[in-house]
This record gives sequence, C-alpha cells and structure tokens, in this order.
Amino acid sequence: RAKADVGRAVCFYESKMDEAARARHMLAQDLRRAVELEQLDLHYQVQTSVSTGEICGYEVLVRWHHPERGAVPPSEFIPIAEESGTILVIGEWVLRTACREAASWDAPYKIAVNLSPVQFAHADLAKLVHAILLETGLPPARLELEITESTIIADKSRTLHVLRQIRALGVTIAIDDFGTGYSSLDTLRSFPFDKIKLDRSFMSEVDQSIQAKAIVRAVLTLGKSLDIPVLAEGVETDHQLEILRVEGCDEAQGFFLGRPKPVEQIFQVEAANGDEEASFSGRVPPQR
Ligand code: C2E
Ligand code: MG
Ligand code: MG
Ligand code: MG
Repeated sequence: RAKADVGRAVCFYESKMDEAARARHMLAQDLRRAVELEQLDLHYQVQTSVSTGEICGYEVLVRWHHPERGAVPPSEFIPIAEESGTILVIGEWVLRTACREAASWDAPYKIAVNLSPVQFAHADLAKLVHAILLETGLPPARLELEITESTIIADKSRTLHVLRQIRALGVTIAIDDFGTGYSSLDTLRSFPFDKIKLDRSFMSEVDQSIQAKAIVRAVLTLGKSLDIPVLAEGVETDHQLEILRVEGCDEAQGFFLGRPKPVEQIFQVEAANGDEEASFSGRVPPQR
C-alpha cells in the first residue's frame, strides 16, 4: 500500500512537472514575439548618494505585460529568455530603448542596464554597445552596465576581454548582486569594476543580525581599499539607510528611496507651477 502511495505521489509530481514545463514552453514562445508586439517596457529605479541624498542615476528594469497573464516578473521570464536565446533580442531592445530615452532627458543622469551572461557568449557585445551609443547619441559616460558573477564564471577570459573593450568606450561596469556568487574576491582581483552593488539579502538583515552588518562593513572596507564605490541594494527603511550612512556606504537603492517606475513618473511635468527647481525644461525629478 505504501508503495502505491509513493507511485501516486510520483505520478502527481511528474504531471506537475509536465505542467510546469508546458507553461515554460508556452511562455518561451510568447516571449519570442514580445518585442515586436511591443509588450515590453522599461522601469527606472533611482540610485542616490547616501551622504547627500543626491540622485546618482537610475537602474533600468525590464517589464513584460503578457496579454493574458498580465505582468510577468523578470525573475520568471529572464531565465526562460536566456534558455531560449530570446534574451539576445530582448537585451538589445532594452539597451537601445534605455539609451534613447536617457539621451532625451534634460538632466544628464546615468543609467545602469543589466546584462545577461548569454549576451557575452553569443554576440559581439562591445560592437553592439558602441553602435547603440552612436545611434542614440548617449554619451558613453552616462551608461553603466551591470553584470553578475555568473557572467564571469561562464567564460572568464572572454568576459574580461569584452569588458575591457566596453570600458575603453568610456562605459562603466558594475558588479551586481555582490556577495552571493562563488568567487567574489577573485572576481574583484581580476577586473577593476567601477562599482560594487552589494546584494539586497545583506540589507534585509543588516538591522537585526550582527553577521549581516559585519559583512556589509567588510565589503565597504574592501571597496575603500580597492577604491571602488559600493552601492547597497534593497534599502527598504530609514533605519537601514542610517546604518549605511554611519558605515560610510557610497550609494543606495531600494524601495525606501524609490520604487522602479515608468519614465513618465520619474520625470513628472511640472511646467505649470513655475517652480525654481523645475529648471530642466519643466521636468523635475521627484523627491522620492
Ligand atoms: P537586479 O539587477 O538585482 O535588480 C534589482 C531588483 O531588486 C529589481 O527587481 C528591483 O525591483 C528589486 N528591488 C529594488 N529595490 C528593492 C527593495 O528595496 N526591496 C526588494 N525586495 N526588492 C527591491 P526586478 O525588477 O524584479 O528584477 C529582478 C532581476 O531581473 C534583476 O535583479 C535582474 O537580474 C533581472 N533583470 C531585470 N531587468 C533586466 C534586463 O533588462 N536584462 C537582464 N539581463 N536582466 C534583467
Ligand atoms: Mg541590476
Ligand atoms: Mg542586484
Ligand atoms: Mg538580482
């Protein structure tokens, strides 16, 4: 009897797996047409200086509006896009659209665009970045590219070669989700990153766990010694921000400072009120 139960459980499990696989397959097919059907758009999340509160830039985060399923989060569709190769088309669309939008802003903020390991493996990425900068007119210094350790691990020598080419264009490179990969320290030794983005998992515990706080402190010390600014991801409370201020963190990003928003909400038109601060042709960044 026990055996039969196990058998039933396995069957149930397998049919669940089939279901999941089918769902993924369908999503992969829908994704393939998402760009041409204009179902993707970009949100921007502010990055600010911890000491002054000034805006340093905006991270670009892709959004997919599925006709039936509604908003599908990137954590769900980026892995599928990577598996099916569609990330090449999506990644290029994100880069081009973000550069074009940012080039049209009156305020010269930096934008930070996420790159997938697949983009390093399959495309002449440096050439593409160069072409898009020329095409959109965005000054290279306003573009930052975020990579994760998985990109470096995939093919270290090739990645370093491509990163050097990209950096030679005047574009900066940030290491994203720092502290969660397998070779953090080795990664920092091999390539001079322009920014370290400390993974948000440390921030969520920084005010309760002395271990998390010790790690935040250690990474800040590391950043100082290597002369690389550190940005803390996932700041959700003023208490967390205060800890970062005390510890001397350079930049912060998170829901407390601003949620990812469509560009229209980042630059609200306030031309009507004649505000002194509305000096960028009426487009002013929001306070929060
Ligand atoms: P990421 O690059 O580490 O981006 C930060 C993620 O943390 C975003 O999730 C953002 O909405 C979320 N976040 C920001 N502040 C907070 C906070 O205070 N609390 C919490 N809990 N979360 C916060 P999102 O937009 O869902 O993106 C998830 C991941 O998907 C990104 O992680 C990135 O790895 C990937 N992704 C997003 N857009 C793109 C893209 O255009 N290309 C590629 N290749 N990957 C992308
Ligand atoms: Mg990122
Ligand atoms: Mg991150
Ligand atoms: Mg992440």
